[in-house]
Amino acid sequence: MTSERHLPIHHRAEDPGGRLDSFGDVIWVHCPECDKASKKDANGVSCGHCGYTTVQSRKSSNTKWAVPASPKQKCSHCSEPIGSESRPTARTKDGELFLWVRCPHCGETDDYPARQSWNTQHFGYEPGPPLFLSTQVAGETLWVNNLAHLDALEDWLGAKVRERGPQPGLTMMAKLPRWMKASTNRDKVLRGLAQLRDRAQKAGIDQ
Ligand SMILES: [Zn+2]
Ligand SMILES: [Zn+2]
Repeated sequence: MTSERHLPIHHRAEDPGGRLDSFGDVIWVHCPECDKASKKDANGVSCGHCGYTTVQSRKSSNTKWAVPASPKQKCSHCSEPIGSESRPTARTKDGELFLWVRCPHCGETDDYPARQSWNTQHFGYEPGPPLFLSTQVAGETLWVNNLAHLDALEDWLGAKVRERGPQPGLTMMAKLPRWMKASTNRDKVLRGLAQLRDRAQKAGIDQ
């Protein structure tokens, strides 16, 4: 379990190099069955809470994958945006497609009008269950795969001076979106990361 961690604000940081998949071995997602934090790796999802396991399917046209019909869809409980990620929880009611979404802000779930999505443009991942460690910051989605990814982002984005590391080219850090690196957003982004760390801790996420 992660203990109290001093936020490394305004230090110098060097790009550790590496691409996204070199940070940690797993991706924490919402279990498709019980919604709790479950691990996803190359073999699929395995949930330590309910025992759910999947084998990655090579079929790209799973009819349960959908996105909210409106990218600006608001939560019916707290009115915050629910995001526009592709999810495997679509169902048809009276001929209309709906998507079951858990709000990243208040945690309430509801069905929202949806449209089919055969693949996700989101982060260039294969479609998969929604990430567990994701939150909204400055109208954007801040997300991490795991604790190694979280540590690295916190170190890098909290730094006042960011130096290129030994590895040239498009490292994970070099590819971060502009809003995340903007000094005007630094405090918000660091608060968002602290919130994700808190959520990880409560969910028993340990890697
Ligand atoms: Zn589960
Ligand atoms: Zn909500």
